[in-house]
Amino acid sequence: MHVEIVTIGDELLLGFTVDTNAAQLARELAAAGIEVVRRATVGDEADQIASAVGEALERTGAVITTGGLGPTADDRTKASIAALFGRGMRLDETILDGLRARWAARGWPGELPAANREQAMLPEGARVLVNRHGSAPGVWLEDDRGRWVAMLPGVPREMRGMTADELLPLLGARAGGAAATVIRSRTLRTTGIAESALADRLGDIARSVDGMNVASLPGFEGTDLRITARGLAADAAEAALDAGIARLRERAGPFVYGDGADDLAAVVLDACRDRRFTIAVAESCTGGLLGGRLTAIPGSSDVVLGGVIAYSNAVKEHLLGVPPEVLAAHGAVSEPVALAMAAGVRASLGADVGVSITGVAGPGGGTAEKPVGTVWVAVDVRGRSRAVRPMIVGDRDEIRRRAAQGALDLVRRALADDDR
Ligand code: AMP
Ligand code: MG
Repeated sequence: MHVEIVTIGDELLLGFTVDTNAAQLARELAAAGIEVVRRATVGDEADQIASAVGEALERTGAVITTGGLGPTADDRTKASIAALFGRGMRLDETILDGLRARWAARGWPGELPAANREQAMLPEGARVLVNRHGSAPGVWLEDDRGRWVAMLPGVPREMRGMTADELLPLLGARAGGAAATVIRSRTLRTTGIAESALADRLGDIARSVDGMNVASLPGFEGTDLRITARGLAADAAEAALDAGIARLRERAGPFVYGDGADDLAAVVLDACRDRRFTIAVAESCTGGLLGGRLTAIPGSSDVVLGGVIAYSNAVKEHLLGVPPEVLAAHGAVSEPVALAMAAGVRASLGADVGVSITGVAGPGGGTAEKPVGTVWVAVDVRGRSRAVRPMIVGDRDEIRRRAAQGALDLVRRALADDDR
């Protein structure tokens, strides 16, 4: 089943409220095998609502709206969609009684405020979607050709409740056998390779694998690959996803560090824990980000010993034992200094693994030879060391975050290669 979503509210267009309803609805519908094929957002004007919903009805014939069901004058969803269907509005006595009871229960002394009577108005021929989490009822309206609009409240908690209690069961009943299909996604996480280079590696499965679309999602910490199975029963979808992920994993090779929501820091901690290794960090341009990433993971204390924020050359020299002549000859941002920092922190803290970062995060401080974004990361595993210069672009924040990720990835790879 295909549906469109129209979210309604001036606050959404102005950007004061982030449209979480559309994303939440799409996820919940997908889990039930219902695909959102288009989304629109409009303001509170009746003609905007009518035109967006009218177009969606023409195209798809199945529309879910959120917002504009409240009691005030800017809540025009019901009336404008009723007009679209050529229906009048009528007062629903059951809803009105429910509203009166709700207000009385809260200790309201007099007659229901006039504005709240508006909430008891329904389009002719509409069906009520009960709201157990607030006062505005939802509305289901359907024409004689089977085209329908489900109107849900804007308040996210009420929208979620009504979706679970009323809308999904109703759509499931309509879909009959087709409801047995699901929409499921799976994610593979990569780092250390540009999105375009990753696509080259994937070759003929870069855009789709076994009939499933491959979404390439670049971020600060690498590129995620997400595949989605549609129109299959749950078991078949899981099997297709397993097979698709396995093919992607094989092509992406050593750049894959995990799946789902795996954090590279947790992957590194697990790899150390498996080997009963401890780790120590030495950070210059990241100023503690790497230590922060590692210690953000619960249970990191059995692996992480500590670290040194070696921002100045004096600290690199005195706390990490980087020889002054190496600093003088190569500069602080260099392969020999990164290696000396990793070895130095490992020795001074007595760890199995030492990892270091030194770089130019900018915006100032870059030179022709070492432009902003020049970063060296090094690892020393029980005396076997290596360093790499990850290719990093971006502003200061991105450079620092990518440098921390690059250092974690170097540790991951060094430990994996040690096993060979
Ligand atoms: P309404 O039903 O239009 O009166 O909306 C009530 C409140 O729900 C608004 O003030 C917003 O804070 C919130 N809201 C409305 N639409 C959305 C949406 N699409 N996503 C998240 N919050 C929303
Ligand atoms: Mg509103």
